[in-house]
Amino acid sequence: MTEQIGTTCVQGGYRPGDAEPRQIPIYQSTTWKYDTSEHMGKLFDLEESGYFYTRLQNPTNDAVAAKIAELEGGAAGMLTSSGQAANFFAVFNIAGCGDHVVASSAIYGGTYNLLAHTMRRMGLECTFVAPDCSDEELEAAFRPNTKCVFGETIANPALAVLDIERFAQAAHAHGVPLIVDNTFPTPVNCRPIEWGADIVTHSTTKYMDGHGAAVGGAIVDSGNFDWMAHADKFPGLTTPDETYHGVVYAEKFGQAGAFITKATAQLMRDFGCIQSPQNAFILNLGLESLHVRMPQHCKNGQAMAEFLSQHPKISFVKFPGLPGDKYHELAKKYLPNGGCGVVSFGFGGGRPAAETFMKSLKLAQIATHVADARTCVLHPANATHRQMNDEELVACGISPDMVRLSCGIESTEDLIADVAQALEQI
Ligand SMILES: *Cc1c(COP(=O)(O)O)cnc(C)c1O
Repeated sequence: MTEQIGTTCVQGGYRPGDAEPRQIPIYQSTTWKYDTSEHMGKLFDLEESGYFYTRLQNPTNDAVAAKIAELEGGAAGMLTSSGQAANFFAVFNIAGCGDHVVASSAIYGGTYNLLAHTMRRMGLECTFVAPDCSDEELEAAFRPNTKCVFGETIANPALAVLDIERFAQAAHAHGVPLIVDNTFPTPVNCRPIEWGADIVTHSTTKYMDGHGAAVGGAIVDSGNFDWMAHADKFPGLTTPDETYHGVVYAEKFGQAGAFITKATAQLMRDFGCIQSPQNAFILNLGLESLHVRMPQHCKNGQAMAEFLSQHPKISFVKFPGLPGDKYHELAKKYLPNGGCGVVSFGFGGGRPAAETFMKSLKLAQIATHVADARTCVLHPANATHRQMNDEELVACGISPDMVRLSCGIESTEDLIADVAQALEQI
């Protein structure tokens, strides 16, 4: 019998044996000792699996990564120090200097910078396409040196829903994998691998931790992409790695293990973006209630979006769960139980109305954060996008009056009452 997602949230990844600790132990140790150098040598050669240094692997992290891999229905997973590191590793593991990536333009600002600017300095080019582009536009974005396609299930903060099946089909037609950042819906609301995505990433900082306590990231590989069938495109996986005595990852670790083993053995070794075991432990506490919290976030988001869309002082509401939203049809397909608790909206009174609204909230707290148990709110024109003038804001899809409200898991009535009283002040 396949277990339900709530059981995996609580018990996945770590099943203690007889007389072992019930909770995942925190292995607060940088290093492991061995009786012989021969034994340790085998670990270094990837001849045996085992722990020797926490920058590469740590049992606490591995247990939590295994839980996230189970939740996403993947073959293997790893934790990273942040969501930024997860997306960087996921792309850089298969694409580097001289290569090209196709990405949805509706993605997190940090990931946009990473792909458009920082990775460009490493010699990697990126073509951005709108998530609702035509099939012809998507097709035209590919080049012979394209190595992957990237998108977000629900874009932060644009709240666009990715047509995962369509993007996966386009990627596969060009012999490359689809990487999906599934931070906002979490596997409780959508499992991109079931729709054809090959690799899934997370900022676990958001709903997975859910308590604003620990920055972290995760990568899950489905094990479905056949690297050997496209060996010429992915030499890093299909030809010998001389820094590991000529190991060929796709041969030695198979389709299910190659991607994550290479990302651990090479990228974690060289870039060192490991999550601390303490943070992995905190993340796991969050995961244990993820399936209980997500429905409340979604319920509050839906109720808030419906309330705002009826309010005379509100000029627009973006929320894929609202009938009439540009992404409602895709939301019905990919997010039948709801997507997330984040709602974006604007005011008939423009930027001054948004400023009065922000000042008047009592329960919702101003924070550069989303997807937290506590409701938080941000006015991008006055915070993350502060350096832009009004024309520049409009050009990147953020109107000067737009507010992003991340509904927490408080009681719905109290959240709506707070927003209603703040609207009265305008
Ligand atoms: C926050 C976020 C990131 C970056 O994650 P950090 O943990 O802050 O590094 C990446 N993708 C999405 C969708 C995010 O919301």
